[in-house]
Amino acid sequence: MASIHHSYLAGQPIQSDRYVDVYNPYNNELIAQVTECSAVHTQQAIEKALGLGSRLTRYERFEILDKTRRALLAEKESFAKLITSEAGLCLRETLYEVGRACDVLQFSAMEALKDDGQVFSCDVSPQGKARKIFTLREPLNLAVAITPFNHPLNQVAHKLGPAIAAGTPIILKPSEKTPLSAIRLAELLYDNGLPGEMLSVLLGPTQAVAEPLVLDERVELVSFTGSVAVGKHIAKTAGYKKLVLELGGNDPLIILEDADMELAVHLACEGAFRNSGQRCTAVKRILVQRSILDAFTEAFVKKAARYTSGDPGSMDTRVGTVIDEPSAERLSQAVENAVAQGAKVLLGGGRKGALLEPTVITDVPRDAEMVTSESFGPLAPLLAVDDMDDAIQLTNSTPYGLSSGVVTNNMEQALKAVRELKCGTVNINEVPGYRIECSPFGGIKDSGLGIKEGVIEAIKCMTTVKTFSLPWG
Ligand code: NAP
Repeated sequence: MASIHHSYLAGQPIQSDRYVDVYNPYNNELIAQVTECSAVHTQQAIEKALGLGSRLTRYERFEILDKTRRALLAEKESFAKLITSEAGLCLRETLYEVGRACDVLQFSAMEALKDDGQVFSCDVSPQGKARKIFTLREPLNLAVAITPFNHPLNQVAHKLGPAIAAGTPIILKPSEKTPLSAIRLAELLYDNGLPGEMLSVLLGPTQAVAEPLVLDERVELVSFTGSVAVGKHIAKTAGYKKLVLELGGNDPLIILEDADMELAVHLACEGAFRNSGQRCTAVKRILVQRSILDAFTEAFVKKAARYTSGDPGSMDTRVGTVIDEPSAERLSQAVENAVAQGAKVLLGGGRKGALLEPTVITDVPRDAEMVTSESFGPLAPLLAVDDMDDAIQLTNSTPYGLSSGVVTNNMEQALKAVRELKCGTVNINEVPGYRIECSPFGGIKDSGLGIKEGVIEAIKCMTTVKTFSLPWG
């Protein structure tokens, strides 16, 4: 039977006779119902956050984050199962995701203790004076976070951890498809001392929750992770406020002829199939230097066959479902379209409901939809490139600019890639998605405005810098 969960208004569970239904993508079972918010609840959440009384000390913020991290670690398995049930991601992935979210809380806790103020002595030029200028960071009055379905816990942790570390009250609108782990994280934070006014979690129709939050002039920051279409809509409508937009990607893995073949095959599999290919930084195009394409293809297909898809709740499964059946249908259609343009499916391609087999496709034309736009699933299109210049030209030809991976042992080629790829990250001999939770992360072009996240950068966005100066000597 479906369990009942609640949206939260300033720490209090919202009662309502309307519910958001949450389904398990693997078996289509109704697993939970979450109380739905109205536009009135949204206004009340804003007012409660703005009415926050005394601010938490740095130590209090540290303690809430650190205790919550320990509580999350203690519940690692049940959180992983919860994500698996709402997102269809396999347990191997969701256990990993909980570990990442613990890191986010840990780094946020550590940052809460740090003071990053600066001091500028003013007697440093003929125009100077005997004064000192100091900076300090002040929390925002109110931030809003809107998150997607693909890392339902970690994406949320990346918004809430930095907000709490900064002392900024935040209203979260998680994905309606995967709200359960977000709500459970909020409950852990409340249980571990977070004042209710610091966090509301609202679920409901876009026109009752997300849109009013984006439009409200009292909201000082909208931090959004999701699709390009919604991100650009927010950019058009949000008005005079800070925006952090982490949008879609179409990341390449570029494999040059001098690459370590075993490493290249491993990275291609991990990059294309982990998290059911539903990472903004998943490998969406594998660009292989023509001279090694045949050898690479043979080894890749062999290894990709070991990425078995099936019941996400089984530890033997390496690739769970995508988020829902319509998404799996769209991906199958993208494969069919490529085949109609001359591509060949070498492995996979089968689909049962939302479960799509990891699919390797070769001879994919450069203008195929799965090359020019983001396909959010376990598809691995192989394309031949002449050399690094050709790979760079092909990579830079799409509107996206999130991340990239290059497999080479040639330092000159590696540095060329770092200099010339137009994207937020270049990882040499790693997948595009490689990062740690506190390093700067984010894209350019249609993938984002170049304003980074990652715990340290996100805290900067969640604060404003105040400068003050004093006479000195
Ligand atoms: P999405 O459809 O854009 O939804 C993201 C969030 O926006 C959801 O909470 C959604 O609410 C909400 N939303 C929908 N319409 C809105 C509106 N008019 N105003 C404000 N919010 C609105 O994205 P998704 O399909 O969940 O996620 C997949 C996408 O996220 C992919 O493109 C992926 O690349 C991208 N992504 C990017 C990053 C990054 O860091 N660059 C990371 C992860 C994912 P509902 O659930 O109620 O529709």
